[in-house]
Amino acid sequence: MLTATHIAYYFICHRKLWLFANGINMEHTSDTVYEGKLIHETSYPQRPGKYTELELAGAKIDFYDAKNKVVHEVKKSDKMEEAHRWQVKYYLYLLLESGIEDATGVLEYPKLRKTEQVFLNEDDIKDLEAAIKATKNLLNKEECPPRLKKKTFCRNCSYFDFCWSD
Ligand code: SF4
Repeated sequence: MLTATHIAYYFICHRKLWLFANGINMEHTSDTVYEGKLIHETSYPQRPGKYTELELAGAKIDFYDAKNKVVHEVKKSDKMEEAHRWQVKYYLYLLLESGIEDATGVLEYPKLRKTEQVFLNEDDIKDLEAAIKATKNLLNKEECPPRLKKKTFCRNCSYFDFCWSD
């Protein structure tokens, strides 16, 4: 089953996506999730009880404001901002698929004192559907895709040594 992580990785690096999907996992996913929750709890102590955890097919939204239909996604750093944006758009897409229309998202970077609103428009839906299709094709490939030509995203990637140790 595709998850928001697959979609986010698709927009970062196809090799990263393939490695992750094939169980070559150097990300400490549970630590990352825990860290996100911890940042949220310590940054927004006034919020408890306001947001619910929402489980959808393909995603678990940690902080969903059901009253205002807003997905809150808390991140430590904005280095992967584009992928974060697509992750939230994917949540909005899944909500739409579940019959929840006009939901919006907020990316929150409390350490940077920065927030960004995220919306899902018709073009995004087309791009996401293309990305979902391309992601499924990639996951069926036997061969690992080549590494990125530029190291822009690599320095913060847990596969850095794996990809660049030569
Ligand atoms: S180190 Fe770079 S090339 Fe390798 S998986 Fe990560 S982002 Fe992709």
